[in-house]
Amino acid sequence: VVIAAIKETMPHEHRVAIDPDVTKRLIKSNMEVLIETGAGTESYYSDEAYEAAGAKVVDRQTAIKQANVVAVVQNPGSETLSQLKSGQVIIGLLNPLVASDQMQQLAKQNVSVLSFELLPRTISRAQTMDVLSSQSSVAGYKAALMASNIYPKYFPMMITAAGTVKPAKVLVLGTGVAGLQAIGTAKRLGAVVSGYDVRPASRGEVESLGGTFLTSSVGNGAGAGGYARELTAEEQQAQQAELAQFIAQNDIVITTAQVPGHKPPLLVTQKSVQAAKPGAVFIDLAASDLGGNVAGSKPFETVTTDGQVMIVGAGDLASRVPNSASQLFAKNIQAVVNYIVKEDAITLDLSDDVLKELVATHDGEIINPRLRKTLN
Ligand code: NAD
Repeated sequence: VVIAAIKETMPHEHRVAIDPDVTKRLIKSNMEVLIETGAGTESYYSDEAYEAAGAKVVDRQTAIKQANVVAVVQNPGSETLSQLKSGQVIIGLLNPLVASDQMQQLAKQNVSVLSFELLPRTISRAQTMDVLSSQSSVAGYKAALMASNIYPKYFPMMITAAGTVKPAKVLVLGTGVAGLQAIGTAKRLGAVVSGYDVRPASRGEVESLGGTFLTSSVGNGAGAGGYARELTAEEQQAQQAELAQFIAQNDIVITTAQVPGHKPPLLVTQKSVQAAKPGAVFIDLAASDLGGNVAGSKPFETVTTDGQVMIVGAGDLASRVPNSASQLFAKNIQAVVNYIVKEDAITLDLSDDVLKELVATHDGEIINPRLRKTLN
């Protein structure tokens, strides 16, 4: 079986789907690995490192043509997708629920699409394949570092001969995988940290990291599968009012709130931004074309308001730690490949609980039930 990784094409994407270490491991399991020339450069993996690991470094066309499985981080775009042939497999974050037209087209081409957004994350044998967790964890870590870097004051308390500096106060809104990693990192940098989530179950996790959990008075926002549900319009308003007080008491706010299949909820209003102190920092991990958690955040940009408040549109933070993020991503790819390659052939057993969701298209059909619903 031939596995290929191609160079990413999305702007601001610096990761690569396979690293030299996983290359070695795949070859050890009797596979062949093709890497597009320069695919790893932005993650600090050189063509030579891949070759030393046993890969063949080839041009894009050759990689796409000869692979049984094409591994990508993000959707490579229609032009590349149209070159895939019947029987080929593509694995990555293909954004299937939004790019549903492309999924239909790939089904027509008889290409099998496996997309990590569709992985049933609560099934324990899927955990090694969980790209959303591995990448969120990297993003949460970087969010805390980035905040400390642009914040014009110290993070830790400093007692010096020249006087004492108070520690920074960091508030994390949304304490899932990214939020918890942001809390842990900010804590290690010496800040005083609190966390807030609509899922009461996350209290224990926040407290075990040394953070204070701020209880939501909005009611239980837990939805299916360990995720949050979308709040009603009234609940959202009540939440924004409640959060305004918490935000005003903090210097740094890191937001990570997502609701699967919906626009990210607005947690920090224009008013809350205006009320923040000069030098306050907002890091919005949910910032995308769909909106974000912070009013005025712009994807990939840092906006400074008239009141000297900085708002970082940070939907791409995993990609800003590209070497480690790619290392973990590659491990997730390897786990999927090992799961579907049996005796030197690819078998997609659609009666398997993991595959019947992870697989978006196969044998000319749309397989994932959520995607099928979107298309009906
Ligand atoms: P996510 O990226 O979908 O959302 C991030 C956080 O935002 C979540 O904690 C969510 O509750 C919160 N949120 C959503 N709307 C909000 C609002 N209006 N106000 C405040 N917070 C809001 O979530 P995630 O980090 O991918 O994970 C969510 C949950 O799934 C966690 O409990 C995590 O531990 C769990 N999980 C379990 C497994 C597993 O069982 N293997 C794997 C991955 C994640």
